[in-house]
Amino acid sequence: MQKSNLAKRCLNCDLLKLCNGACPKDRFLYDDNDGIPYSYLCEGYKDYFSYIKEPLQKFLYYSRKYQNMSDIIRAIKA
Ligand code: SF4
Repeated sequence: MQKSNLAKRCLNCDLLKLCNGACPKDRFLYDDNDGIPYSYLCEGYKDYFSYIKEPLQKFLYYSRKYQNMSDIIRAIKA
């Protein structure tokens, strides 16, 4: 992905590392900030990635700490 191809809303989005600006084929909405299209699924991605962000961060943290999946799950639930 080239960052120059992303709309300002994506470049300024705190979910960019998770969403990656979404699939280029789905970028056909425009806002008033620039003439660069963004994904029509943006609002859904925001809801989804906001919902999984914290559990995903916990999973990544504990997956570095533990090798066994049951230990990871136990630590996340604690
Ligand atoms: S959630 Fe929306 S604004 Fe954020 S990077 Fe994805 S498409 Fe762009």
